[in-house]
Amino acid sequence: MADAGQLMPILVSVAGGLLALGLLFALVVWIHKRNRAVPDDPALWQGRDYGCPECGAAMEQGWVMLGKGAIFSPRARGRPGLFAHIGRALPNTLSMHLRPAANMAWHCPRCRLLLLDHDKLVH
Ligand SMILES: [Zn+2]
Repeated sequence: MADAGQLMPILVSVAGGLLALGLLFALVVWIHKRNRAVPDDPALWQGRDYGCPECGAAMEQGWVMLGKGAIFSPRARGRPGLFAHIGRALPNTLSMHLRPAANMAWHCPRCRLLLLDHDKLVH
């Protein structure tokens, strides 16, 4: 039979585990609220042919999946630093789907420029 002195560390461990689970759940809910996921539909691409802003060549349509979200920082603010976290990820750049959703994107292989649409995720 355990006395109160032995139970306390166990209770603290259980409380810590529950707190961690709660924080993880809150993070998943927060990510879902920031995402707008739409079904894959060829109509999404109609009228969306872009030229490379650098060389003018037709950009290739495609998809981009950014594992930890896209963290953008205005040039005047400087690059995202060591402590940049997913809380700063642009809306619709984090996918929590089992089959990950992706962002529509355009790529110029010559200039290696990537244009990303993060208005929504597509799955
Ligand atoms: Zn180009």
